[in-house]
Amino acid sequence: MLLGAAFWTYERTERGLLAERRIAGEAKLALYGELLRGWLGKYRALPSIYAHEPDVVALLRDTADAGQTADVNAKLERWNATSGASVTYILDAQGVAVAASNWNSETSFIGTSYSFRPYFRQAMRGVLGRTFALGTVSGKRGYYFAYPVQDNGRIIGVVAVKMRVDTIEQELRLDTGAVFVTDSDGIVILAGPPHWRMKTLGPLTRETLRKIESDRLFPTAMLRPLPVEGMQASAQDTKVTAQPDRSGGAKMDFLHLSQPMPTERWRVHLLVETQGIGRQSLLTALLAGLAILTICLAGLLLWQRRRRMIGLLAAREETQRELERTVSERTANLRESNLQLERQVRERQQAEDDLRRTQSELIQAGKLAALGQMSAALSHEFNQPLAAIRTYSDNAVAFLDRGREEQASENLARISRLTERMARLSKHLTSFARKPKDTIEPVLLDTVLAETLALLHARIEGAGARIEAHLPPDTVVMGGQTRLQHVFMNLIGNALDATAPVADPVIIVRLEETDDTVRILVEDNGPGIAPDILPSIFDPFFSTKGPGKGLGLGLSISYNIMRDFDGSLQVENRAEGGARFIVTLGRAATLREAAE
Ligand code: ADP
Repeated sequence: MLLGAAFWTYERTERGLLAERRIAGEAKLALYGELLRGWLGKYRALPSIYAHEPDVVALLRDTADAGQTADVNAKLERWNATSGASVTYILDAQGVAVAASNWNSETSFIGTSYSFRPYFRQAMRGVLGRTFALGTVSGKRGYYFAYPVQDNGRIIGVVAVKMRVDTIEQELRLDTGAVFVTDSDGIVILAGPPHWRMKTLGPLTRETLRKIESDRLFPTAMLRPLPVEGMQASAQDTKVTAQPDRSGGAKMDFLHLSQPMPTERWRVHLLVETQGIGRQSLLTALLAGLAILTICLAGLLLWQRRRRMIGLLAAREETQRELERTVSERTANLRESNLQLERQVRERQQAEDDLRRTQSELIQAGKLAALGQMSAALSHEFNQPLAAIRTYSDNAVAFLDRGREEQASENLARISRLTERMARLSKHLTSFARKPKDTIEPVLLDTVLAETLALLHARIEGAGARIEAHLPPDTVVMGGQTRLQHVFMNLIGNALDATAPVADPVIIVRLEETDDTVRILVEDNGPGIAPDILPSIFDPFFSTKGPGKGLGLGLSISYNIMRDFDGSLQVENRAEGGARFIVTLGRAATLREAAE
């Protein structure tokens, strides 16, 4: 494309420049044509004017008249000088010069026959004769006009005017290019460059050569081809190469233009210089090529940049898409695992609920079992005071009957105390049977222990055990009154069971405190717990007490209750023998403070 554009520009520029030169050349050519026509016109009329001169006619009537001849010679000389012609002369019917403007010179025409000249023959036929030829005497190129001299309709002679061509050639030489004129045979008769004169455009036919020789126009030997390469006789607009200026040296390119001069059957030629056109065109083409190249490169650069941008954007979009894909995948995964988690949490909750329900049912069952166990103790507990009350009331009636009111009232007071104890017992029982609240609240520890011991009073008495409770009075822990009581009931009950075989059963309840926890230690001097059953002691239904005596629920329920309290229940064997159960609970502020 670049080459094409450069070539096209070259062509266009060259054509444009050539056209410019051609137009200028054609104008010049027209000018030279006019110049030549003017020059010829100046002389063309002269012979016909002279032919009508009475002296001329008279001379030709009688060529022997010497006086007449001298007269005419003088006139011819004058006319010739005035017109600026080369020679003006008169030929008789045979073509011999009878009078001439140069009658006085050594090279006078007079007496010489010019019958062979075409202009003479043409004039003798009654028309204006014209011939370009070399002068036979001078050897110089000249143009001849000839006109017949008539005497009563008979042609008796011819007036001829020879013109010099050097003056017109001077003007033709002024052109920087080259101007030359060819005749009908293609012979250069007038030329700016001197070495082009009398050269031919192309090879002459034998016939033409013969005619030239017979007319003795010029010696044929001097007719050489014009040193112009690529010349065509009547061509317009052809390119030629020539060296019009001999001194200049180098050959140059020209545009060959020509224009006919129909009257003379001549042709005016002009070689227009085209020097520099090629270089200028080449330069323009190069510039155009360079411009196009620059534009193309700029375009390419822009295009590349655009492509790079598009690539970057695409990559970014791809990354974005990738990211979005990853994010959505991860989101889906997360949602999936979330759902799974939710499901698991629900299942766990369900299981926990189930467990809790089961637990509370188990607690209930444990309570019932404890109730069953306790009923024996209770019946003893109630029967003993009832029997005492009956005795006291019977005694009181007897004392009243005897008028011993003091003893009677003492008995009544004893009865009242006994009923009070019974009422307390029954109150414990109802609180034990009630389903515990789930809330955790501050509980006064020694109250819980006192109530537990009150409930177990009969069993402790029966076992003959010694209870050593060392609890600071106002210790408050986080728990539930009833449930904590249940835990202590279990632990002290188990300790009573364990110390049954021992001679001097002792149960110690003591406290260890840290900043935020309270540890209640329940110790006994029983046999302790065998190491192999230690890990399963808190399992539900684990019991060593044999059927009908223990359900194996007590410790399990206690363990779970402690967990509900965010506390713990642990067991270990004491170094000095016996078991130690450790109840750990969160410390609370004082009851009052907590209530506030
Ligand atoms: P149960 O009292 O109905 O057997 P527990 O869960 O209360 O059920 O007790 C489980 C077992 O732990 C008891 O059977 C007993 O073997 C053992 N045990 C509990 N407390 C003591 C203790 N203070 N000394 C020795 N063994 C104990």
